[in-house]
Parts: sequence; structure tokens; C-alpha cells
Amino acid sequence: MMDTQLTLPFLLRRSESYFGDKEIVTRLPDRSFHRYTYRDAARRARALAVGLQGLGLERGDRVATLCWNHYQHHEAYLGIPSGGFVLHTLNLRLHPNDLAYIANHAEDKAVIVDRSLVPLLDTFLAQTSIEHVLVVEDSYEELVADSDAGAWVDPELNENEAAAMCYTSGTTGVPKGVLYSHRSTVLHTLGVAAGNPMGLGVSEQDVILPVVPMFHANAWGYPYLATMIGAKLVYPGPHLDPESLLEDFVEEGVTWTAGVPTIWLGILAMLDADPGRWDLSRMKGMLVGGSAAPRAMIAGFKQRHGLDVVHGWGMTETSPVASTAQLPGDLAAADEETQFDYVAMQGMPLSFVELRHRDDEGVILPWDGESMGELEIRGPWVAAGYYNTPEQADRWTDDGWFKTGDIVSMHPRGFIQIKDRSKDVIKSGGEWISSVELENALMAHPAIVEAAVIAVPDEKWDERPLAAVVLREGQTATADDLRAFLAPDFAKWWLPDRFEFISEIPKTSVGKFRKTELRDMFTTEAVVQP
Ligand code: ADP
Repeated sequence: MMDTQLTLPFLLRRSESYFGDKEIVTRLPDRSFHRYTYRDAARRARALAVGLQGLGLERGDRVATLCWNHYQHHEAYLGIPSGGFVLHTLNLRLHPNDLAYIANHAEDKAVIVDRSLVPLLDTFLAQTSIEHVLVVEDSYEELVADSDAGAWVDPELNENEAAAMCYTSGTTGVPKGVLYSHRSTVLHTLGVAAGNPMGLGVSEQDVILPVVPMFHANAWGYPYLATMIGAKLVYPGPHLDPESLLEDFVEEGVTWTAGVPTIWLGILAMLDADPGRWDLSRMKGMLVGGSAAPRAMIAGFKQRHGLDVVHGWGMTETSPVASTAQLPGDLAAADEETQFDYVAMQGMPLSFVELRHRDDEGVILPWDGESMGELEIRGPWVAAGYYNTPEQADRWTDDGWFKTGDIVSMHPRGFIQIKDRSKDVIKSGGEWISSVELENALMAHPAIVEAAVIAVPDEKWDERPLAAVVLREGQTATADDLRAFLAPDFAKWWLPDRFEFISEIPKTSVGKFRKTELRDMFTTEAVVQP
């Protein structure tokens, strides 16, 4: 067989040859829409590659981006790797000290930055070795306009060369860098396109709006997936509030979207408040991942708005999509509650990805739906090491699996169920309590918008669960009410001893519950209960 190298320039050729007229739409900062085609995007991506070569950058050099989701960022996703450079997406919600650390650690040489984010860049630029700053709609535009896309020569990359890199968002500990190869990126794109794992068969006819930021884990692969299949893309720019997103869905006829649960909880609340206001008849549903999608939210979208939630699990280290929860065919006629039980789990691995879970002694655990252990993963788009971080080598087992740090059980059908991150699981009297299960149950309470459960130190039991709860406006519930609400579904010793009623759960840069901050808040403060 031919030794075809799996590299990203292929996607440029394919998209312009077969889907050249399909649209890429961006909501600009001034809220107007920018429209162009895959043909335009491919031409400008090549011009960008030529322009970067003209600046003197060499093969393998890192080119960072500090941008929202928009068409120029899409050009960077394709143009930087197609020039033989490495796309390094910087998370614009990080602290400047972290950004400086990451840009230095990655040895970024150039950066493409949104005009509105130049002040942020200025706070850490001097601490880095970045030599070239390209400002979107300014010097970036000049570079692309002045460079001849026709002068682009396919660098004939080896598929194992680096295409992109991303740092973990640091929910737990110091950010760590992951280098993605052209090959792993192409295989991930094929992997998510195969077998409908993004749910419901995303195809050329779809209109995809990735809410997941392009600076978070490759926007879950959507820019490459959409380019490969020729689906119309809609980028929301910096407008990520529920109302703007709902407007985008309606105006552009969006059929498929994706993001973390906190985004969808906001959208669900807005849909529930005024169901007739938004015509989402063209929308099929959304991929939700990054943290556990509450079962009550999945049921709410389906039962009240006819939208399917496909629950996915992954990590920066796994490119990121590794598993998705699709209803097994023989359950298509099962009652709704059974169906929700399945799709609320994190599902089965994509093809060529393998999963197992082991206990503290390293014994591989059975698929019995109960035994909890650490999830391990291997596959062609799973990192084999962190970039220049030898001290983290113990995250890989001797037989070549990556230790995820997630505590799971396996359903008899092989569906994983994430119980916790190992740092978040509550160890009470030698037994484990899953904070995620308690959170999910609490978020099914009609008076609760959000709930996060953390461990607090306890003299007798070592740790005990504390629930931080955000009540819906105008609603009330006491700690005793909530304990009584949970009691039928949990062992008595699982029930949180303390409930704290707060106005908002602190979130990380990518919208996950920031449990470290909650722990700081509540391991020192006195109990306040209504
Ligand atoms: P960070 O480690 O900085 O949060 P990632 O986005 O790579 O950055 O986080 C990956 C982690 O997110 C996983 O290890 C897991 O703990 C959590 N996660 C991702 N998807 C899900 C999901 N569907 N359900 C529960 N947890 C999830």
C-alpha cells in the first residue's frame, strides 16, 4: 500500500476541492457577521503559512494564538501546521503569570492575538521570547494580504512531526504541555467522524457551532472535523452568553453544537423561561463534555425541547475526544429513564482507543458497575508523554497506558462512569464517596441551579462531603430539605453533612467547577445555613 503521510495540508486540498463554496460564518466583536467560504479560508491559510516563512520562522517553530473563536483562528488552525510550524493555542482566561510560563515553556516565537486581547498580551509579552506579534484585523491582516498563497509549497511533512500543542488548563496543578502530531490529529479527526461519535451523524449537511473555545483542547477537533466533512461552520467570536448563542443558532440554522455543561445549563434555563422565543427546529443537539453533564440537564433538553445531548469524555492529553455515550441499539425502545441512565454515563471509547481501570494495587477491575478505580487509556491520539516534563513520566504505566487521574466504574456494557477526579473523590472512613454523583443528584432538584460537592477534613472520618449550592432566584430549600431529597438514592453515610448556599460556584478558565477555591472557602469559614 502507499505510504501516504497523514498530514493536515490534505484538509486544505479537500475542503477547497469539494466544499469550496460552503460557508464559514463568524460573529464579529461588533456583533455583525463575517461570511466567507472554505475556498477563501484555504487560500488565506496558505498565505499565512507563506507569510510566517517570510518572517524567518523555521520548521517546527511554535506560533501561538491568543484568540476567541473566529475565522482568523480557523486559518491559524490550518495555516500554521501547513507551513510546517506548530500551532500553540494560549488560553486567554489564564493568569498572565501562567501565560508567561506556558509561552516560555513552549518556546513560542510568534503570536497571533485579537485586538481586544493585546492589553492581556502586554502583561506578559516581555517575559517571553516571542519575536513577532500579529494583531488580528491589523498586522495579521497585512501579513495575509501581502503574502502570495500561490507561493505555498507543501512542505511534505512527515506525519509524526508536531502540528499543534496545548497545555492542560490547570484545574489540578501546574499546566503541562501536550504535542499533537499531524498523524494523531488526522486520526482523531477520522475517529470522531466515524461511527457518529459526535452524535446523530454530523455530515456535510450540518451547520456546526463550536462553543468550546479554540484555546481549549483543540476545540474538541471541530475545526478539523468540519473542514474534512465540509459542514458549514459558525464561530461565535467573543459572544458566549446564552442569548447571543441562541440568536446564532436561530439565525444561522445551527444543527449541532458543543461545549461544557455550564454553558448548557445557562441555555437550558433561558429556553425554559421562554420556550416559544427561539425556533430551534433545525437543531439536533449538542456534544457536552469537559465535566459531567448532569442527568437532569440531559433529560430537560430532550423532554422539554426535543434536543439530544451526546455526552463525551476526554482530556487535553487525549486530543481530546476519547469516549462518547451513544444509546445501544437494543435500547432504542427502552423507557426514557433507562435511556437517560445510559447517556448520562461517559460512554464507550472511540475506535482504536482502549480503556481499563485498576485499583491501588494495580489489579484490573471488572465491569460490574461498582468497583471504582483509576481510568487508564491508550490509543493513537493519546499523549505518550508531556512536552519537556520528564518528572511527570510516572503518569504512564510500564506497559504503555496513560493514567488519567479519573476515578471510574465500568458498567457491564463497557460504559465508563466518571465518579471523580482522584483529587476530588471524598475518602470517608476508608470508603470513597463520589462528588460527581451527589452533584448530579442535587442538580436534579427544582430549586437548584448548580451544585458542587467537596471533601472537608473531619477528625473522625478523615473527610466528609460538603455541598455548595446555588439556588434558583426566588426559590428556597434548607439543608434538611436537600438531605431528605438525596436520602432515597444514597447510603446514609454519603449524605453531605454541610450545605453552603452561595451565589455562584467559582469556575476555572474553561468553565469547570473550581473545587480548590471552594475548599479554601469552606475549610476555614464557619457554617452558614438558612
Ligand atoms: P484540565 O485537566 O485542566 O481540567 P482538561 O480539559 O484536559 O483540562 O480536563 C480533562 C478532565 O476533565 C478529565 O480528566 C475529567 O476529569 C474531566 N472530564 C472531561 N469530560 C468529562 C465528562 N464528560 N464527565 C466528567 N468529567 C469529565
